[in-house]
Amino acid sequence: MKKIAVIGGGPSGLFFALMARRRFPNVAVEVFEQNPFSATFGFGIILAEGGLGRFRDADPEAADAIMAASYITRDRVFSHNGEAINIEGGAYGGAIARIKLLNTLQDLCHARGIPVHYEQRIENPDMLDADLIVGADGVNSVVRRAYEGQFGSSCWYLTNRMAWYGTTTHFPSPILSFKTTKFGHFWAAAYPHSETTSTFVAECDADAWARSGLNRMTAEQRMAFSEQIFAGELDGQPLLSNRSDWISLPVIRCKNWWVGHRVLIGDALHSPHPSIGSGTRIAMEDAIALIDALADYADDLPRALAEYQRRHTPETAKLVDAMEKSYEWYEQVGEKMDSMDAITLAFDFMTRTGRLSPQRLYREYPKFMQKYETKWNAWQASRSQTETVLAGV
Ligand SMILES: Cc1cc2nc3c(=O)[nH]c(=O)nc-3n(C[C@H](O)[C@H](O)[C@H](O)COP(=O)(O)OP(=O)(O)OC[C@H]3O[C@@H](n4cnc5c(N)ncnc54)[C@H](O)[C@@H]3O)c2cc1C
Repeated sequence: MKKIAVIGGGPSGLFFALMARRRFPNVAVEVFEQNPFSATFGFGIILAEGGLGRFRDADPEAADAIMAASYITRDRVFSHNGEAINIEGGAYGGAIARIKLLNTLQDLCHARGIPVHYEQRIENPDMLDADLIVGADGVNSVVRRAYEGQFGSSCWYLTNRMAWYGTTTHFPSPILSFKTTKFGHFWAAAYPHSETTSTFVAECDADAWARSGLNRMTAEQRMAFSEQIFAGELDGQPLLSNRSDWISLPVIRCKNWWVGHRVLIGDALHSPHPSIGSGTRIAMEDAIALIDALADYADDLPRALAEYQRRHTPETAKLVDAMEKSYEWYEQVGEKMDSMDAITLAFDFMTRTGRLSPQRLYREYPKFMQKYETKWNAWQASRSQTETVLAGV
């Protein structure tokens, strides 16, 4: 292999290019990115703890630079119709501005002499002269779309709506706030990603989307409306937009991860759901798995690509399964908000993916579990009292 072309200079494409340069110093690697340097959408992202160790093994310099640029918080606050519950515990809580993550990776690409061609949108991947084309071009991937049938890709849309805003409101800890309004069910996840700016992801279900009239508003009107709905959480501060608008998220999956000399990684291969804070981690781990397979079968590209899919499927499946359980939970959250009190909803939320067993909850969030148990015991006691009364009737 002499030449690799990476389409997409997001986290997965840049991280792949960095590792490719280290592992295959004699192979030419270049990245094509449609956006100008230092431009992107959205605000901060949470980098889930589990992935950081792998980033460090794969590229210690990049992992250290990402850690150094992250903003760490502890604990979080869960609130339901104004009743707030502090959830102390959990491990690493790092968030980073998406642009800071990209700049960190871009700087390293520059330092390692990897050409990143900004403002170059690739419309037809087959126009590129390369032995390997890496489709790291996100949910709307042109690589995937060009070979939809062969990739066996499917796409459908969730019914909830969300917008990725920022705000200058400082949240000492990340918050997750659910509220029932006269228009229906709304919720927001917010966390600081720097000393001065926080990420604010606002969401609602399909019913609230229509009843509130959000479906008929302009992007500016939607932002103003969101500021009113979440005025309490925002402490009166405005929202910030970075190409932010309300969208319904696609669910994209592919049966085949490679077609000929074209291979997909990151969101191009499997779209994320932000609620488990792992889209970037999954995307960057795809890049690591692809590099490892290419290194093991350097002289046999089809074998390397087949091994990439075969070896990496089980690990990806675990995270994708967690993501699916999480978006299914959010798709039904309106009913849960109507029937559960704050602590019960918080417990239901924390156990929604099945990855946090009760034992782990007791270990990592003992104070929260104490509060939950107190509530549960009170409920059991009142139920047995009611049963005794009914038995006597
Ligand atoms: C609201 C929201 C909140 C999120 N929060 C989190 C979070 O907290 N934690 C987390 O880990 N993840 C989060 N994510 C997901 C995360 O942003 C993605 O999973 C991650 O960015 C995937 O990286 P990627 O490199 O695969 O794709 P992308 O980041 O989408 O990068 C793709 C790149 O390709 C470029 N491109 C596309 N088409 C072309 C073309 N034809 N030619 C040239 N360039 C092209 C794009 O401009 C872009 O720079 C969130 C997503 C959303 C929508």
